[in-house]
Amino acid sequence: MATYDVSDRAAIVTGGGSGIGRATAELLAANGAAVLIADLSDHARAVADGIVSAGGRAAAFVGDVTDPAACTAMVAAASELGPVRIAVNNAGIGGEAAPIGEYTLGGWKTVMDVNLNSVFYCLKAELPAMAAAGGGAIVNMSSILGSVGFPMSAAYVTAKHGLVGMTKNAALEYAAAGVRVNAVGPGFIHTPLVEANLDEATTEMLKGKHALGRLGRPEEVAALVAFLVSDAASFITGSYHLVDGGYTAV
Ligand code: NAP
Repeated sequence: MATYDVSDRAAIVTGGGSGIGRATAELLAANGAAVLIADLSDHARAVADGIVSAGGRAAAFVGDVTDPAACTAMVAAASELGPVRIAVNNAGIGGEAAPIGEYTLGGWKTVMDVNLNSVFYCLKAELPAMAAAGGGAIVNMSSILGSVGFPMSAAYVTAKHGLVGMTKNAALEYAAAGVRVNAVGPGFIHTPLVEANLDEATTEMLKGKHALGRLGRPEEVAALVAFLVSDAASFITGSYHLVDGGYTAV
């Protein structure tokens, strides 16, 4: 019988202090995992405290995933909670909005660092740890913009497409060690990231681009992630899974 129970393992959620990462951390904890919430700020502590108050198991790790040493330390911290068999590499930013000809070099490098290089640093630490723990499952948070373009967002679109390729390679290289690796592609979701970057008119326009006529909720992405990292998804690896309200169905 399919089970979403992950109570025998520890999980890492990067960017777990807000939005999709927070909803994912809370759902994994509700499914029994001991969750390390990794984030840039003290939001990680607030989310971990909330989970513990609700009877779950969680700890916070404040660190920057663009620092490879911090990613190594993050995996070591998660190992103290239990065998690390789940990781959700979710931290990300929107970045500059400009056409390629006007995109700044610094803006490009920042988005590549936070949205793409960081996932390489995380995987580099997570994959050997999971292989040593006898296997596990990883989700890399891509986007619908991992398969289609979006004007004024070249760096974000490029990084999210890159994550899909990185996911496939990690899956091929670590399948024999029992580690599954998948990418998730959300449509536009109501989170602080989106709310900070979009005015009301743009938000209304974007609702119309989703067949369901609305933006998604963080919990709707978390539900897919929790399935993919559970044993119910035991034959799913190396693939890219949309949760986009029909955005890419056109
Ligand atoms: P969010 O609410 O802004 O949460 C992102 C979290 O990541 C924040 O807590 C942020 O910390 C943290 N973070 C940023 N840079 C970091 C770094 N260098 N090291 C550690 N943590 C860092 O955003 P969200 O909308 O939930 O997005 C989560 C992921 O989903 C991102 O990868 C995003 O690209 C992807 N996604 C989002 C949407 C959407 O519509 N919301 C759609 C598709 C994909 P601070 O707040 O302290 O900066």
